[in-house]
Amino acid sequence: MENLRIIPLGGLGEVGKNMMVVEYGRNILIIDVGMMFPESDMYGVDYIVPDYDYLRGKEDRIRGIVITHGHMDHIGALPHFLQEFTAPVYATRLTRGLIEVNLRREVQKRVKINTMAPGDVLQLGPFKVEPYHVCHSIPDTVGLGIETPVGLIVHSGDFKFDHTPVDGWPPDMAKLADFNRRGVLALLSDSTNSGSPGATPSERLLTSAMEDVFRDAKGRIIVATFASLISRIQQVMDVASNFGRKVAIAGTSMVKNVKMARQLGYLEVPENLIVSLHEIHRLPPQEVAIMATGSQGEPRSIMGRLATGRHSSLRVVPGDTVVLSSHTIPGNEETVHRVINQLFQKGANVVYHPLSPVHVSGHASQEELKLLINLLQPQFFIPIHGELRHLKQHAALAHQVGIPERHTAAVENGHIIRYDQNQGQLIDHPVIQTRGIASQEVLSDLVIEAEDIVRRALKGIAPTTTPDVVEKTVRREVSNFFYREAKNRPTMLVVAMPIA
Ligand SMILES: [Zn+2]
Ligand SMILES: [Zn+2]
Repeated sequence: MENLRIIPLGGLGEVGKNMMVVEYGRNILIIDVGMMFPESDMYGVDYIVPDYDYLRGKEDRIRGIVITHGHMDHIGALPHFLQEFTAPVYATRLTRGLIEVNLRREVQKRVKINTMAPGDVLQLGPFKVEPYHVCHSIPDTVGLGIETPVGLIVHSGDFKFDHTPVDGWPPDMAKLADFNRRGVLALLSDSTNSGSPGATPSERLLTSAMEDVFRDAKGRIIVATFASLISRIQQVMDVASNFGRKVAIAGTSMVKNVKMARQLGYLEVPENLIVSLHEIHRLPPQEVAIMATGSQGEPRSIMGRLATGRHSSLRVVPGDTVVLSSHTIPGNEETVHRVINQLFQKGANVVYHPLSPVHVSGHASQEELKLLINLLQPQFFIPIHGELRHLKQHAALAHQVGIPERHTAAVENGHIIRYDQNQGQLIDHPVIQTRGIASQEVLSDLVIEAEDIVRRALKGIAPTTTPDVVEKTVRREVSNFFYREAKNRPTMLVVAMPIA
């Protein structure tokens, strides 16, 4: 009997570029193909894609690419990926729209994109995929039940338990109960907010915060957010309409997304609410709202250019209110703070999270994360989507609600987690990754030898040894080996993953 292998290619040990491979025999299922924005010191880099080298040469095994939702950290690398790989893509209607907005025509002709809906059952090779509705900060988000020959695994996607979502569609608790009844082998769950106690407030809360801003503002209001936060765009449009303001949109991606979401019926916008950026100059400031992209302060984005006065037609002037309706992605703090300071210098009033509740997270906090684990009662737990600290924290939460520590695998990208029919023993061959090493070729021989060292070290260990002792032993042996061979003791991260 074959093993089921779960291989994170992105999004574990980092925030962004989410991509997961589920493999059984010669069958591969891919979940999400996201991108990541570069850190502020990575000059000349527009975006970062997952390292999918693992899939090269296995193209014919890919049974499908299933996308959980339309945020860039889940779809952003698809255009790049599909240039090289041809495999059918499955996405909900809005997600599909957001994917197609970014796909070149040549790719659209070659690759089949299929629309799926919550409640559908997709048979993709040996995988029976069941998308189910979850709440997040964009409509049409799903989690996935995946029935495999080894057992049922559940991939949460990005989610929160929002009981009063903007689109009026609450989370599908019945489906989660159904999964539980069938028995869940492994749960892979979103760790983004695993450090936040309590429960994440409903998206609905934001409307009143936005209303406060619109009530107080005397001049124009500029709201910056992500182009793909369709629910957020809807809320701002509603509030603007109620306060008698017209809305202009700055940012090509947001213009495209709004057009597409309106066509598909995911954005309801009153006639005449939207005006062009040129038309706002003819309106009194108190009748103008502008929605803009660039909430992370990227220098070439709309907000980046507004902050430095380099936008072609828009200037920030005293009396303007600027709302940053987004959270700051870890690593972007410096850039965002600089933009806030520059906007204040230009005389604007800047309203931002967490000083004002103009942003609500789309990710579950601790109590919700525990709720999902309790609803599903999985045998094994794999925290996904987050830096290692988020994953570790999430694993600790799972432990609190009764998942044994040895049944959790908090691992970073590139590690292979295997389950066999009996979920028996650790059956992995050692995976050694090197990072930040200049001459890869010189080292590759050493790495192959080091794998042998690991194998030999593990042979001498009793099957009942705890993971930390395994890790310590491996670290010591490999460190000694590198010192003997290269007079160098590299910094090492050793992760042992017992699966039973
Ligand atoms: Zn998301
Ligand atoms: Zn995400």
